[in-house]
Amino acid sequence: MKPKRERWAEEFPRWFDWILDEAELYDYGRYPVKGMGVWRPYGFQIRRRMIELIREILDKRGHEEVLFPMLIPELLLRREKEHVKGFEDEVYWVTHGGLEPLDVKLALRPTSETSITYMETFWIKSYKQLPKKYYQIVSIFRYETKATRPMIRLREVTTFKEAHTVHDTFEDAERQVLEAIESYKEFFDRLGIPYLISRRPEWDKFAGALYTIAFDTIMPDGRTLQIGTAHNLGQNFTKAFDFKIQLADESLDHPWQTSYGVSDRVVATIVAVHGDDNGLVLPPEIAPIQVVVVPIPAKSEEDEQLVKETLEKVRGVLEELGLRYRIDDRDELRPGAKFYYWEARGVPVRIEVGAREAREEKVTLVRRDTLEKEQVPLEGLRERIPSLMNEIYNSLRDRAWRELRSRVLRTSNLEEARRWIAERRGVVEVPWCGREECAVHLEDELDAKALGSPWPLERASGEKCPVCGRESITWMRYSKSY
Ligand code: ZN
Repeated sequence: MKPKRERWAEEFPRWFDWILDEAELYDYGRYPVKGMGVWRPYGFQIRRRMIELIREILDKRGHEEVLFPMLIPELLLRREKEHVKGFEDEVYWVTHGGLEPLDVKLALRPTSETSITYMETFWIKSYKQLPKKYYQIVSIFRYETKATRPMIRLREVTTFKEAHTVHDTFEDAERQVLEAIESYKEFFDRLGIPYLISRRPEWDKFAGALYTIAFDTIMPDGRTLQIGTAHNLGQNFTKAFDFKIQLADESLDHPWQTSYGVSDRVVATIVAVHGDDNGLVLPPEIAPIQVVVVPIPAKSEEDEQLVKETLEKVRGVLEELGLRYRIDDRDELRPGAKFYYWEARGVPVRIEVGAREAREEKVTLVRRDTLEKEQVPLEGLRERIPSLMNEIYNSLRDRAWRELRSRVLRTSNLEEARRWIAERRGVVEVPWCGREECAVHLEDELDAKALGSPWPLERASGEKCPVCGRESITWMRYSKSY
């Protein structure tokens, strides 16, 4: 029987659903609450490595991990007016304890600016304690009214990695936004995920922020997906909470804040951008299993013994390298079925051990990204596996970046922009005068969403806004988005 496969680029949404199930990553749609999914063991392993990576990156930049309660009293959530307006229609409320109605409605946190700022007012009194950088990795809840999608649009986001910082000056908060962007670049770069960084339009920024910088990637079907955001919150929350600190000149003032976060979508993006028709292709650093060893059944007992001995030598090398590996000696499956099984799960390197090669003290390495094979002498295995993993990572990253760049078009010709969105999907960058009405007009005209302007800001010198004809100040990106 030929194994079932889906076409990655041509049928992306179907492919995505197929691989979540086939690779036993995530069960979605069977759990009886809409918008909530179950991490299965293999998916959980990837999720766990993602968490380890973000911890490493935030910890080394002086962030401290905390854990706040999941419930936020209504009064706290309502403190900052713009914030609550932005989230009001998405909040889940806890209204009863047992049979008793609660005196105070409690929100399942949609995000944590309010609860964290509230506690900071007790903990932070002086500029000497600043900057302060907290983060937590928690579930957040949003009653999404748009169509939900596994890992992409959920009502419970199970791995929200949210950071919250406090500063004594506006300039220091600005510096923190830059640091957040650097941190996320490092995070996505380590995963080989390509991105566009945009300053979100005023009308689409985080509720309660001065401005929002966002990372978007492009999925195989050409739709963009927001994968990370950083916000300069100014003094909006500290004023709302009457949070003041003592400054160097002994005066009292409201401190400045930033917040930034990445979610489960990071796992979705790894699955999506690195995949192919055979399934997952995982970057070695986060693959739950980095090497799978498949013995090829031998015809004679003597050969069987030889394969066994070679397997042990291979195991020794893998142990020494400290890699996560599996020796697939299941009797009930033929090698071909094992190959298919591990390819779907994206294991970066496969080692085949057969009698004929074993006699020559060799094994076969197969890399998952290209499925290319090479014979390697046993004695060279220790050097070759790490270098091959490095090549796999580089080639995954380069392929993903090439794909993203090929989907971005900069043009001042609206007809061309329209065709690009309709046929190629992807992103178009069109000159923009800076006025909301022009961008909104183009959203209709292009049947796409305004993502924001390139960050850092790029001038569109000499270009005219195609809507009003005024001089352009920058570019505006448009795409179909998830
Ligand atoms: Zn204009």
